[in-house]
Amino acid sequence: MSNKIIMCRYGEIILKGLNRPKFESALTKNIKEALEGYGEVNIWRAQGITYVEPLEGDSQLKKVVEKLKCVFGIVSLTIAHKCEKNLESIKQEILNSFTDEIKAHNTFKVNAKRADKKFPYKSPQICDEIGGFILENFPHLKVDVNNPSLAVTVEIRDNEAFVHTQRVKCSGGMPVGTNGKAMLLLSGGIDSPVAGYMIAKRGVKLEAVHFFSYPYTGERAKDKVLKLASIVAKYNGEIKVHIVPFTEIQLEIREKCPEEHLTLVMRRFMMQIAERVAKSNNCQALVTGESIGQVASQTIGALNVTNDSVNTVVFRPLIGMDKEEIVEISRKIDAFETSILPYEDCCTVFTPRHPSTKPRVENVVKSQQKLDIDRLIDEAVAGVETLVIKSED
Ligand code: ATP
Ligand code: MG
Repeated sequence: MSNKIIMCRYGEIILKGLNRPKFESALTKNIKEALEGYGEVNIWRAQGITYVEPLEGDSQLKKVVEKLKCVFGIVSLTIAHKCEKNLESIKQEILNSFTDEIKAHNTFKVNAKRADKKFPYKSPQICDEIGGFILENFPHLKVDVNNPSLAVTVEIRDNEAFVHTQRVKCSGGMPVGTNGKAMLLLSGGIDSPVAGYMIAKRGVKLEAVHFFSYPYTGERAKDKVLKLASIVAKYNGEIKVHIVPFTEIQLEIREKCPEEHLTLVMRRFMMQIAERVAKSNNCQALVTGESIGQVASQTIGALNVTNDSVNTVVFRPLIGMDKEEIVEISRKIDAFETSILPYEDCCTVFTPRHPSTKPRVENVVKSQQKLDIDRLIDEAVAGVETLVIKSED
C-alpha cells in the first residue's frame, strides 16, 4: 500500500459561519461521485482539510488528482507522504521519497505546521532539526527563507505526520449543489458549455435542455451535444439532458411569422419551454451562453424580447465577454475541439437573411401569437426525451 494521501484545501471565506458543514458534506459527496470507477478511496475531514486516500496504491493517483482538479470547491491540493509522528520517520521519508526532487534545487526552506499541540517539538525546532538534516545530506543546498526554490513542508497532525513539497492549483468555486439547481440551454456551440461551467462553479447543479430539429439536424449533431454535456459533467457531476423535439415549432414559425422575427420568436419558444422543463425538475434559474451584440439575436433589444418571454431569472455569465475570452475558457475545459465540429444546430437551419436588430417586444409578441403557443409548447414538452450523461473520463 502507498503512503501517499491527497490533502484538499478550500477557500477560507466559505469556511466561515454556519455554511461549513453543508459545504463540507457536499464536497465529500461530489468527490466520491467524481472518483467512482477510480479504485477504492478513503475520504475524511479534519481541521479544515478533506483527505483523499487512494487504497489501491499509486496506480490511480495521477488520474485521481486530475479528477479532483475539476471538483469545484477545492482551491488547491497537495500529494502528501504519510509517516509516523516522530522526527526520525520524517527524516527517513524525506530521504526515501524526495531525494531526486531535492537534488534538482539550489535553495530551500522548511515549513512546519504543528496542528497537534502536544507534539514535543515546537514549529521552529522542527524546522531547525529537519533543515539541518537536509543540509547534512544535500550539501549543495543553501537555505533561503524568503524566496526558496523548494519549500519542504512538514505537518504534524493528530494521528500522523505528513511531508510535502508541491501545491497543485485546482478549480476553486463552490461545491456543486450548495447553491440550488439551474437549467442550462445547451446548444452545440462554443458558448453554452462555457456558460454552464461558470455557473456550476458557483455551486449550482445543472440540468440541460437541448432543442433538436430532426431531420434538419441529425444524429451526429445530437451526439456532439451529448459529448459537450459529458464535458460539463466533468465539473457538474452527472447531468440530466432533456432533448426537446423542436422541428414542428420551427416549421410553424417559418410558415406563419414575418421573416425578420423568425429567430426571435424561436428564442422565445426556447426560453418558455426551458422554463417549463426547469420548473418540473425543480430548477430555479435558466442559463444561456448569450453575450451582448454577438449575433443579431443578442442585441440589447433582442435580449429584451427573449427575456420578456419568461418569469424565471436568466443567468448569462458570458454577457460581457468577447469571443476570445470565451474561447480561452472553452479550451481550458477541453470543450473547444468538440464545439467546433461542423454539425448544424437548429438555430442555423432557419436563419432569416435580414433579422431585426432593433425589435420591439410587443411586435415580436404579436408575431408569436399567430401560432397556437400553448399547444406547441405542451406537445414539445410531452415529447421530451431525458438522458443522464456522465463524465467520460
Ligand atoms: P452557442 O455557441 O452556445 O451555440 P451562439 O453564439 O451560437 O451560442 P445563439 O445560437 O444565439 O448563440 O444561442 C444563444 C444561446 O441560446 C446559446 O448560448 C444557448 O444557451 C441557447 N441555444 C441556442 N441553440 C440552442 C439549442 N439548439 N438548444 C438549446 N439551447 C440553445
Ligand atoms: Mg448556437
